[in-house]
Amino acid sequence: MPTLEDAKRKVEELVVAKGFGNTPDEIANKLLFAFIELGEAGDSWKKGKPTEETVEELIDVIFYVLDASRLIAPGANLDEVFEKKWAKNMGRAYRYGEGFRQKQLSG
Ligand SMILES: [Mg+2]
Repeated sequence: MPTLEDAKRKVEELVVAKGFGNTPDEIANKLLFAFIELGEAGDSWKKGKPTEETVEELIDVIFYVLDASRLIAPGANLDEVFEKKWAKNMGRAYRYGEGFRQKQLSG
């Protein structure tokens, strides 16, 4: 099963092969593109497009997130960071943060 680190290396391979920006000055753009792809996923879902299409947009989000992460923190092991953050969140209260988010939405 591929790991986040495997996926990150594949994204780097794609970026190099296709001549996309591969330097830290591209980080802001890559984060912006992740938001744009997230918007495309939301739009696809809201319009009732085929699930495969919506999921593909979500994968685009992941591509950009992984791409930005490798430029922001080249030495970070995303599998370790994921496990650590997962454990941290699992240690939190039931429905943690939800009240705060509801307040923001109704705000
Ligand atoms: Mg897309």
